Amino acid sequence: MKPAHPRLIPIINIARCTGCGWCVSSCHLHLLSLEVEHGRKTSVLHDADTCTGCRKCAAKCPFGVITMGERDAELTVMPPESR
Ligand code: SF4
Ligand code: SF4
Repeated sequence: MKPAHPRLIPIINIARCTGCGWCVSSCHLHLLSLEVEHGRKTSVLHDADTCTGCRKCAAKCPFGVITMGERDAELTVMPPESR
């Protein structure tokens, strides 16, 4: 059964992520890192179970790339298929 108040985790829109790294340094638990996905440097959440849902990473992103969502959601938003 789903909890009444599911903990939220960051959902990273990698199609818009610039790879600047601000969110990585904002996480006190070091759960985010920069990786190359689909040929682009992007932020990746490594341990959704440990994430406290504190929103620091979302607040720190200067480009509004991170939204908070339920942990069952897709962890990243993929870029459109290459043309
Ligand atoms: S919500 Fe908080 S604990 Fe989770 S990845 Fe972002 S900064 Fe880290
Ligand atoms: S702060 Fe935003 S744009 Fe920068 S790496 Fe993190 S998600 Fe990407």
